[in-house]
Amino acid sequence: MNNFMFYSPTEFVFGKETELQTGALVKKFHGTKALIVFGGGSVLRSGLLERVKESLDKEGIAHVEMGGVQPNPTDPKVYEGIGLGRREKVDFLLPVGGGSVIDTAKAIAAGIPYDGDFWDFFTGKAVPEKALRIGVVLTIPAAGSEGSGNSVITKTDGLKKLSLRTPEVLRPAFAVMNPELTYTLPAWQTASGITDMMAHIMERYFTNTADTEVTDRLCEGTLKAIIKEALTVIKEPENYGARANIMWAGTIAHNGICGVGCEEDWASHFMEHEVSALYDVTHGAGLAVIFPAWLTYMADHNVRKVAQFANRVWDVPASEDKKAMALEGVARMKAFLHEIGMPTTFRELGIENPDISALVCRLHENKGEFVGNYVKLDRQATRQIYETANL
Ligand code: NAP
Ligand code: FE
Repeated sequence: MNNFMFYSPTEFVFGKETELQTGALVKKFHGTKALIVFGGGSVLRSGLLERVKESLDKEGIAHVEMGGVQPNPTDPKVYEGIGLGRREKVDFLLPVGGGSVIDTAKAIAAGIPYDGDFWDFFTGKAVPEKALRIGVVLTIPAAGSEGSGNSVITKTDGLKKLSLRTPEVLRPAFAVMNPELTYTLPAWQTASGITDMMAHIMERYFTNTADTEVTDRLCEGTLKAIIKEALTVIKEPENYGARANIMWAGTIAHNGICGVGCEEDWASHFMEHEVSALYDVTHGAGLAVIFPAWLTYMADHNVRKVAQFANRVWDVPASEDKKAMALEGVARMKAFLHEIGMPTTFRELGIENPDISALVCRLHENKGEFVGNYVKLDRQATRQIYETANL
């Protein structure tokens, strides 16, 4: 196990009707005027936005709002939010929604006190040193942004989808998580969210770092719990217990605890970001296509942990033939993804003829000649993985 620092100060307030505490939580973290950020309208239809505003009013917290954030969020909404936040002199960001809304709010929170262009943070030209405080009301378990210090934004000009990682500055002060708010999720979004959280665990699990038994078991146990509860949630969307477990798993998957002491991978996420930037697909569904192809490549190039994953997560019997074990694990994972309604090929995702050369080229232009750590992937390797996803 490598040396590590793990600091996860977010206050998670979890359970039924917890959104009614939002105003008190903003006050607790010294917010006096909040910029509420939301998406395409689900929070209007469900009445959640009204309940959140009432709870702010009750505590005397002033608020302004910006809706219209789309999935795979883009930079124009960030600029709009920075302008609005500055004009209105807000001191707190309150995203009500999923990863796209939260990530937009994080970029706004870092952009408001910065003199330059917020995009500098995503290209690595500058590092955010301060940001406005952020509190989250989560409506979809998926990205884990409620407990992470990350933000992912697409620059419309050039369709560059880049991520920013600054746990010290951008981790939310609090996250309100009421599993009942997720009952209204379309099945596709529920399943995409489940796939994304599984991917967040797997990006950390597939490591060459030795002596990670606690982290391995935490990853495997959480994955097994997600698989079990996913099958319930897809059949019974209003099963509170299953929704609650899935919601909490999404946070555990990405707040850092599943990766302590390990060198993490992230190649599959970077490969997917090119797919969702170019074809605007749902992030989790893109991962359902990329991750099995990545695992198939790993069965040939670094089988050890893939065989362990097959055995401990997918109950593939242990045998001498590690590659056969690994491939059986991939087959079981694909069957599970199909069962929850996910695609596992580009065609099933609705992309008939993916431009693989463009994907490879953009990936390495954005991320360098090698991506990932479990096996460092060059252009030939990433091309092979994209091609496997296209079979
Ligand atoms: P999302 O893009 O925020 O939302 C997906 C869709 O679900 C939207 O159409 C939204 O509709 C709808 N929705 C959300 N909650 C709903 C509810 N309770 N009922 C009905 N519909 C609901 O989903 P996400 O998967 O959380 O976020 C994806 C983004 O996060 C991607 O850009 C991905 O790359 C990024 N990401 C970020 C991190 C990170 O750490 N920051 C990690 C992984 C991925 P409305 O717009 O109408 O609300
Ligand atoms: Fe993700």
